[in-house]
Amino acid sequence: MKQEDLFKKLTAHCKEYGYIFQSSEIYDGLSAVYDYGQYGAELKNNIRKYWWDAMVLLNDEIVGIDAAIFMHPAVWKASGHVDAFNDPLIDNKDSKKRYRADVLIEEHIEKLEEKISKEIAKAAKRFGENFDEKMFRQTNKRVLDTAEKIASIKRRYVDASDNGDLAEIRQIIIDCEIADPVSGSRNWTDVRQFNLMFDTKLGSVSEDASKIYLRPETAQGIFVNYMNVQKSGRMKLPFGIAQVGKAFRNEIVARQFIFRMREFEQMEMQYFIRPGDEQGWYEHWKEKRMRWHRALGFDESKFRFHDHDKLAHYAKAATDIEFAFPFGFKEVEGIHSRTDYDLSQHQKYCGRKLQYFDTELNKSYVPYVVETSIGLDRMFFTVIAASWVEEKIKKENGTEDERVVLRLPPALAPVKLAIFPLVKKDGLPEISARIRDELRFDFSCQYEEKDSIGRRYRRQDAIGTPFCITVDHQTKEDETVTIRYRDTMEQERVPVNALREIIGEKVNMKKLLQSL
Ligand code: ATP
Repeated sequence: MKQEDLFKKLTAHCKEYGYIFQSSEIYDGLSAVYDYGQYGAELKNNIRKYWWDAMVLLNDEIVGIDAAIFMHPAVWKASGHVDAFNDPLIDNKDSKKRYRADVLIEEHIEKLEEKISKEIAKAAKRFGENFDEKMFRQTNKRVLDTAEKIASIKRRYVDASDNGDLAEIRQIIIDCEIADPVSGSRNWTDVRQFNLMFDTKLGSVSEDASKIYLRPETAQGIFVNYMNVQKSGRMKLPFGIAQVGKAFRNEIVARQFIFRMREFEQMEMQYFIRPGDEQGWYEHWKEKRMRWHRALGFDESKFRFHDHDKLAHYAKAATDIEFAFPFGFKEVEGIHSRTDYDLSQHQKYCGRKLQYFDTELNKSYVPYVVETSIGLDRMFFTVIAASWVEEKIKKENGTEDERVVLRLPPALAPVKLAIFPLVKKDGLPEISARIRDELRFDFSCQYEEKDSIGRRYRRQDAIGTPFCITVDHQTKEDETVTIRYRDTMEQERVPVNALREIIGEKVNMKKLLQSL
C-alpha cells in the first residue's frame, strides 16, 4: 500500500472508531488542533500511565509533579524562548504556501539518503552473499558523491543557523534546487524568523495586565521547582523529576494529523546529576527509553536513534528516537544532555542560588541535567500506526474476507473485553450483564447485543479489543463461555470463573512494566 494511502486510512480509522476528531469540526475545524474521542481518551490515559509508572513507580529516585501552564514571564526570558524559540519560515510565491526552511532542507537530505540506500540495495542484490556494504560505501563513486553532498549541506546549514544567517539558509534552498512540493515552483521569498510561543494577558484591567505565555514545553515547570522538590523531598543526586502536561506551539506548518499540533501533551523527565557524569547518564537514558518503546512488542526495525547534527549551544549531546511513520522516520522522543544551562540561567534571572550541596565532595554546584522528552500525542500516533493492520482472512465456509484490526498492546487497549449475548433473549443478556458487572472492577468491559456475532467481532477488532466473549445457551447449563482472541481469531470454551485470570494475565500493565 502506498504510504499516503496508509496515512489517509489511519486518520479515517481514528475518526470512524472514536479515537480522534478534528477540534470544533461542526465549525469546519480548527487547524492543527484535535480532540480525543471515547476510545482515544482511554488509550491516551493508558500510554500516559505506562510512561508515568515506568518513570515514577519503578524508580525510587524519580518523583512526579504537576506544574501550572502559566508561568512568570521571566521564565521564558531566562530559558531563551522569548529571544530564540523561533522557526525559520519561507513562503512560496506561486502556491502561497508557507514552509519551515529547516524542514525543507531536512527533507532534501532525506531524499539524498534514500538515494544512497537504493544504490546499496541494488548492489546487495547484484553481489548476493559476497556483498560488503562498508566497502561499497567507501568506494562507490555515486555513493561517495551523494554522501559528500549531504555533508556539505549539513555543514552549511549548521553554520548558517549558528550565525543566524537567514540569507544563507535561503541560498541553501536555492542551491539545492528545492521545489515547493505543491506547485513544483522554486520561487521563494526571503527566510524570516517566527516565534512559536502563544501569548495572552494576565489580569482584568488591560493597562495593568502583563503579557504571559502558554508554556511551549513542560520542562521549565520542572526547572523552576528543582529547589522545592530537592528540599521538600530531601532528594540526593542523582534524582529525577517527571511531569506530564499540555504544551502550546504556534507551529508554522501543521499538516501531519496529530504529529504536529498547536496544543499537545508532553511527558518529560529531567534527571539532575553531578557535573562530569553526564555521558554515562546520557547513555543510560538512551538505552532505557528505547527499551520502553521496544517492550510494546512492535516491529523493532521501525524504531531508530537519530543523533542531532545541530546541537543547541548549551547541549552536550542530543538524540531522537524516531519511528517509521507513514511519512518517513520522524522524532517521537528526544534525549538531551543539557549541562547546567537551564538552572544557571534561572539562577541568573531570579537572583537566587539553585545549587546542590554534595556531601561526598563537600562542595556546592549547579547540577547538570539529562532529559527525556516525549510527545504523548506522537506516541499515540506511533501506537496506532504500529498496530493498524488490514488483512485477508479465511471464513469458516472457506471464502475470503477482509478485516481491519488494531493490534494494540493489550495493556494499552481502551477496551479489554467485549461481552456478547448470542441472542437478545432466553436470559442471555442478563447473564452477560452479570458477567460484565463482575469484571468491570478489573477491566474496562463493553457489552454489545446489536448485529450478528461476526459483525460485533469486526467492530471490536477495529477498536483493538483483545478479548471477546460470547454467552450462549450452553452457558446456562455449565457456566462456560466462548472466548475469542483478537490476533489469532481462535476461540475456546472456558469457565466464566476463569475469565479474570485468563484476561488479567494478558492485559495487566504490571507485566509490561516488569518486562522493562
Ligand atoms: P520537531 O523538530 O518535530 O518540531 P522538537 O525537536 O521541537 O520537535 P522538542 O522541543 O524536543 O521537539 O519536544 C519534545 C517532544 O515533544 C518531541 O519529541 C515531540 O514528541 C513532542 N512535540 C514537539 N512539538 C510537537 C507538536 N507540535 N505536536 C505534537 N508533539 C510535539
